[in-house]
Amino acid sequence: MQLIWFRQDLRIQDHAALWYATQSGPCLAVVILSPEQWSLHHEAPVKIDFYLRQLHSLRQQLDRLNIPLIIRTVGLWKDVPATLLHLTQEFSIENIHANIEFGVNELKRDHEVQALLQQHNKRLELYQDRTLFPIGSIRNKSKDPYQVFGAFKKACYEALSISLPQCYPTPTAQAPVQIKLNDLVPTLAELHSKTLASDYAEQWPVGEDYALTLLDDFIENKVSHYQNDRDFPNLQATSQLSPYLNIGIVSIRQCIQALFRAQQGHFHPENIGQQTWLDELLWREFYQHILFDFPQVSKHQPFKASTQFLAWREAPEDLTAWQQGRTGIPIVDAGMRQLLATGWMHNRVRMITAMFLCKNLLIDWRLGEQWFMQHLIDGDLAANNGGWQWCASTGTDAVPYFRIFNPISQSQKFDANGDYIRTWVPELAHLDAKTIHEPFAKNPNLKLDYPHPMVDLKSSRQRAIEAFKGI
Ligand code: FAD
Repeated sequence: MQLIWFRQDLRIQDHAALWYATQSGPCLAVVILSPEQWSLHHEAPVKIDFYLRQLHSLRQQLDRLNIPLIIRTVGLWKDVPATLLHLTQEFSIENIHANIEFGVNELKRDHEVQALLQQHNKRLELYQDRTLFPIGSIRNKSKDPYQVFGAFKKACYEALSISLPQCYPTPTAQAPVQIKLNDLVPTLAELHSKTLASDYAEQWPVGEDYALTLLDDFIENKVSHYQNDRDFPNLQATSQLSPYLNIGIVSIRQCIQALFRAQQGHFHPENIGQQTWLDELLWREFYQHILFDFPQVSKHQPFKASTQFLAWREAPEDLTAWQQGRTGIPIVDAGMRQLLATGWMHNRVRMITAMFLCKNLLIDWRLGEQWFMQHLIDGDLAANNGGWQWCASTGTDAVPYFRIFNPISQSQKFDANGDYIRTWVPELAHLDAKTIHEPFAKNPNLKLDYPHPMVDLKSSRQRAIEAFKGI
């Protein structure tokens, strides 16, 4: 008997570990829930809820393949090796199969599982599945990892022009396996009650079919306008696939194959929209590779070591105002409130809000990174850390420290009519398209149930530049 260990890859289509496990014999599947570890990693309740809902869907999919799904709950990952060993003994499992995860704690957990299994003549087989290219395979001429996105992307383009990564076949149903399992429903019900009060199910439906429909709809109707529309938060012009990619309801290969389906799977970005979306997928790829090659980024350290000496401000009240969307800068507040209400924020607004925190407020990017992680449905260590370190100018290939977004100009450019602000900051909804971006600029005495800007944008910008010059 083989055991497939599902982690951040809750699907049955195009799944490396599932495919290889089913080629080796009859299978069982397991998911290990670890609520205390989730807290340590600041996983958002909305993301946990999404994960648990998808687990129900995965179980139904596995039922169709006659693969029983076992659910186990542990506190922390240190208890995972013993739990898995116990399962191998209980169900006469030969080997365990899983897809590799790249975080430091994830690698440590898997190493400990491997070591324990080895003592009992069993193996944990790990497969590359989460990225387009195996980690460690995209290297420069000196065989070192790329640190600049442009060069990394060029190498990826070259690899893609040789061949596009192919999807794994979906296994056929195995003969029914006779084991009795009845622990799924109570465990999930219990965990659900601890996570979310409100219901995000309508906003973020689960299921592979739903995710693939979302992908197909994006490719058919939106990707050709992506280059022009993607920066406007009021247009639903991006794919919104990030939550699905992050817990693996859809795979990166399925995205690439869908993008190039019209070219029978050959690499040829037909239009600029297609190419721009591919580049975004490659940003995801870049940050995953960075996480593996430069593990310090997942240990709360900046990529650029010198920036660890930056004198961030201790300003808990300012941090709270930013977190709650009460900064007095409408586009920032709109973004922060979208995050709280939906678990998601548009990419342009993520950049604006993040840069406002670590430049205008000069508050440590790690506090912002943690807040995002605690609230994002798509929270992903590699992408979140990459995004924050980009905005904070502490990361690899980050924005130069003196190029600081002016949130008002960004707002005027990307939300010209103010419709995005109107959606999320209803107390400003009655203002016209000019006034809404900075309500008190022309009339400081305007009566509004909305705060004045908490900082002067010009002098706070200068303060940040001086702080960076100081290191
Ligand atoms: P689309 O525009 O449709 O892009 C397709 C996919 O490409 C996305 O689903 C995502 O997987 C990937 N992608 C797009 N842009 C980026 C990017 N800049 N970096 C890495 N991958 C990208 N993305 C996350 O998935 N999880 C996070 O926790 C996360 N935190 C972020 C924090 C900050 C401060 C910033 C600036 C960006 C962050 N991003 C994060 C990247 C990006 O904002 C989201 O991936 C994107 O908004 C998701 O929307 P979408 O699926 O509609 O993207």
